[in-house]
Parts: sequence; structure tokens; C-alpha cells
Amino acid sequence: MVRPKKFLGQHFLKSKGVIEKIVNSLEISPKDTVIEIGPGTGVLTEEILKREPEKLIAIEVDGELAKLLREKFKKFPNFELINTDATKVDFCSFGKNLKLIGNLPYNVGSFIVLNTVRSKDCLNRAVYMLQKEVVERLTLKHKKPSWLGILLNTFFDTDYLMSVPARFFYPPPKVVSAVISMKPKKVQPSFNVEDYKRFLEKLFMQRRKMLKTKLPLEVLEKANIPPTKRVEQLGVEDFIRLYREFIN
Ligand code: SAH
Repeated sequence: MVRPKKFLGQHFLKSKGVIEKIVNSLEISPKDTVIEIGPGTGVLTEEILKREPEKLIAIEVDGELAKLLREKFKKFPNFELINTDATKVDFCSFGKNLKLIGNLPYNVGSFIVLNTVRSKDCLNRAVYMLQKEVVERLTLKHKKPSWLGILLNTFFDTDYLMSVPARFFYPPPKVVSAVISMKPKKVQPSFNVEDYKRFLEKLFMQRRKMLKTKLPLEVLEKANIPPTKRVEQLGVEDFIRLYREFIN
């Protein structure tokens, strides 16, 4: 047994029921290319391979685990392991209509979600395990929204699939976890992702300040947003309208 490395966010799933549910929600068919982020000891990997996808590419940063996984799944010609950092990978380099999955390392979870948004044009969907609070923010169920949640929901339909208590992991994390599903919207605004991200990040700085201190009155008026509102009171559609007027 490998000793879990805390700095890599290693919390391995041990509940067969949860593992099956997560993999089921990806609805894998034989033509699919699946990318797994942070396969760890390979419990999700094994379940994915049972569904016989055309290809499974697993991205694991830990060299020790990478070696172990290559050995464990060497009989599967459709399995490939890449020993690298998933926050730096261009997912679109693996093809189109991709399905992403992972019990993510929570310390870099946001970076992986951001990387997922950047890859929106080559994704079919993504299913991730993250901290419950993060999943609440990313599905806009939290009372305090985040710029990443707005960015994600501008381009994706998101679903809160289930909560997963700490006892289903080894070692148990300090927080409750949850599973999120995200599918690129069929109709999306044609915004440049990086520019729109910077716009949102700025608006969310000093979030308690009224919007009139952050944006020209004319933009707020045209987008039909009262100037005394704060970011926390706006929904995704409001941000989309605001940005449209802002770049106009
Ligand atoms: N999927 C496994 C392990 C989850 S723990 C399970 O459910 O049991 C998170 C995994 O992500 C660990 O294996 C850790 O080594 C790996 N990891 C951490 N940072 C990473 C990164 N930047 N890129 C890819 N993998 C990473």
C-alpha cells in the first residue's frame, strides 16, 4: 500500500457504491474518450475500464502512483497514463467530445475547473468530486457566489449530483465532499473566456461595494441593473448582459 501524500490532496475513495455512482453519471459508451484526473490507486479507473471506452487517458502527477497504475492496467490497450500536472494540460489536445472525470485533489480543484472551462469546446461533459462548499458555489447553490461559479455557469449547465461524507475516503478529508456534473451549454455567449474571466474577477473584488462604484452608470442602465446592487445579488444572466454592454 502506498502512503497517501497530503500535499497532493490524496484522499482515496473506498466506497464501491460511490465509485459506481460517479462513473455511472458519466454515461460512458464504447466510442468515448475519457480523461481521468488524479487516478490515485485506480479505483475509478477500474470502474471506467469495465465500461470499455474507446480510450481512457489518466493524468496523475505522482510518479510513484503513475508507475503503479501503468503496471496495474498494462493489459488494457485502451488505457494510457500520463505522468504530469493536470492544471497545465490542454485537454483539447486529446480530441473532441471528451468526457472528463476525477475525484480531484482539492488543493488544485479550482485550477482544474478553470482548465475545464477553457476546454469547453472539446468537452461532452465533466464529473468531479470536490469539497461540498466548492460544489455549492459552482452550482450556484451557495449564498455567496464566486467569479468561478459565474464563469462556469455562463458556459455550462451544472448539476449537484450528491454529497459524500468523509468516511467514504481513506484517509478521510476534513470536509464533506460532493459530486458536480457539468455539460457545455448548446447555446453559449461568444465571449473571450480570458477577458470575461478578468471582468468577473474585478467585479468580485470588494464584493460588498455597490456596482455603481465598479462600472459606468451607462453600462448598468443598458443592462437594466439598478446601480445600488452588489455582485451577490446578481444571477448568471445579469452578468452576461452586463458584459455584453461592457464590451459594446
Ligand atoms: N481518484 C482517486 C484518487 C483521488 S485523490 C480515488 O478516488 O481514489 C487525488 C489524486 O490526484 C491523487 O492521486 C493525487 O496524486 C493526484 N493529483 C494531485 N495533484 C494533481 C495534479 N496537479 N495533476 C494530476 N493529478 C494530481
